[in-house]
Amino acid sequence: MSTPHLREQWQTLAASLTLRTRAFIDGRHVDAVSGATFDCVSPIDGRVLAQVADCGQLDIDHAVAAARRSFQSGHWSNLKPSRRKHVLLRLAALVEQHADELALLETLDMGKPVGEARNVDIAGVIRCIQWTAEAVDKLYGEVAPTGSNELGLITREPLGVVGAIVPWNFPLLMAAWKIAPALAAGNSVVLKPSEKSPLSALRFAELVAEAGLPEGVFNVVPGNGKGAGEPLALHMDVDGLVFTGSTAVGKRLLQCAGLSNMKRAYMECGGKSPNLVFADAPNLDKAAEAAASGIFYNQGEVCTAASRLLVERSIKDEFVARVIEHGRHMQPRHPFEPDAPMGALVDEAQAARVLAYIEEGTAEGARLLLGGKRAEVVAGGCYIEPTVFDEVSPQQRIAREEIFGPVLSVIAFDGESQALQLANDSEYGLAAGVWTRDISRAHRVARGLRAGSVWVNQWDGGDMSAPFGGYKQSGNGRDKSLHAFDKYTEMKATWINLAD
Ligand code: NAD
Repeated sequence: MSTPHLREQWQTLAASLTLRTRAFIDGRHVDAVSGATFDCVSPIDGRVLAQVADCGQLDIDHAVAAARRSFQSGHWSNLKPSRRKHVLLRLAALVEQHADELALLETLDMGKPVGEARNVDIAGVIRCIQWTAEAVDKLYGEVAPTGSNELGLITREPLGVVGAIVPWNFPLLMAAWKIAPALAAGNSVVLKPSEKSPLSALRFAELVAEAGLPEGVFNVVPGNGKGAGEPLALHMDVDGLVFTGSTAVGKRLLQCAGLSNMKRAYMECGGKSPNLVFADAPNLDKAAEAAASGIFYNQGEVCTAASRLLVERSIKDEFVARVIEHGRHMQPRHPFEPDAPMGALVDEAQAARVLAYIEEGTAEGARLLLGGKRAEVVAGGCYIEPTVFDEVSPQQRIAREEIFGPVLSVIAFDGESQALQLANDSEYGLAAGVWTRDISRAHRVARGLRAGSVWVNQWDGGDMSAPFGGYKQSGNGRDKSLHAFDKYTEMKATWINLAD
């Protein structure tokens, strides 16, 4: 069947879905040992979709033991990289074959427009697995520069068992950024998806098995942060811990690594990314469109959301008017609608959090120019209008904290050095944008920005070839690109005496 285009077609497909709700451990779907489950609620309309296994310590122990057994067996970890590549390419093909179903699971679970789930999330999962698989049999070790009496080999080996804890905003894509390089490098993986979006990972696990990965190499343990996440982070037999999520939880996980076995720990965390628009931007309308989609895309639930718009004072009013014009057309609609610009926020708690920030922004004196309210799209659903605040003080919470919703804070600046000072005045450093036609300024400002990704005259550039990650409290380590392999391998020096 070709990809559905109409709301009714997605609805028909949704009605025919069988949801996977049990954990996936050692090649099998299993209930939580305790028998506990949690409700998986769709933010589209508040409907309970399923009861999903609520894993705890014992389930984590089983999953880690299965991962360890599979790793020790060498069936995957010792396989030639070119063989692992073939299996992973088969997995990418299976994801492609089931792309509509996986996209629909993302939308049902966390509310994003299904077109984006299909064309961004799942398309990104496929590209990530393909790219990483293609890379893994082209990675060479090194030979140290020695005299003729010895040989120094520098090789990379898999860590062993990797625990991956991921968020709900791009559920399978964030997981793929971890899983693909971890598996390609020969590790075994225990994945804990967010309790707000477990469905795609549980279906994906079946595709992993179908692709031919040996039992125990890939396990999925749904559950909440305290019950399932912490036991994984504290586990003495987990060698590496990789995480995408909030800075607060990332900090806790670094503690867990230190409190347990000093497992390698890499955290991709939050952001409050500045988008700097100078008066000499090459195309103000394009910049305004990007400023709007940079904050409203995915309902603003994006780690790199362009949530702080810094505009040169001389063009501020004109530019903000253009942003509002674009933003006005990005109202939330039913996520099954073709081309819906926004869907539902992930749940009631997130909607309440975003509305509380909006209320506070108004109370603290920022000027509300657009939106600011719940949108009535579907009864029982979690929808919020695209919202723009002007005249935000850099000290206000809406200028400093990650809202993770469709709320833009506009701040005016005078000149380059103030722009940089405002941009870097943040505990975060994930991404930043610069709009100028002056090439020297573009380089100067890009160099001055304390952020892991800088986009010049665009927002959200890059592909699998570029590393992605944060400065400061946006995290450590990098996803994507060949640098991702650093997180999933140990470096070994073998020094051989050739003298006798
Ligand atoms: P979150 O930190 O609340 O949860 C992320 C994951 O951690 C979930 O699986 C959750 O169950 C688990 N968790 C929560 N508490 C835990 C604990 N004490 N021990 C172990 N695990 C625990 O984040 P979220 O609300 O799911 O996602 C939103 C956050 O993710 C935002 O801050 C966003 O910026 C960030 N994010 C970052 C990136 C990036 O690449 N830097 C990408 C996407 C999202």
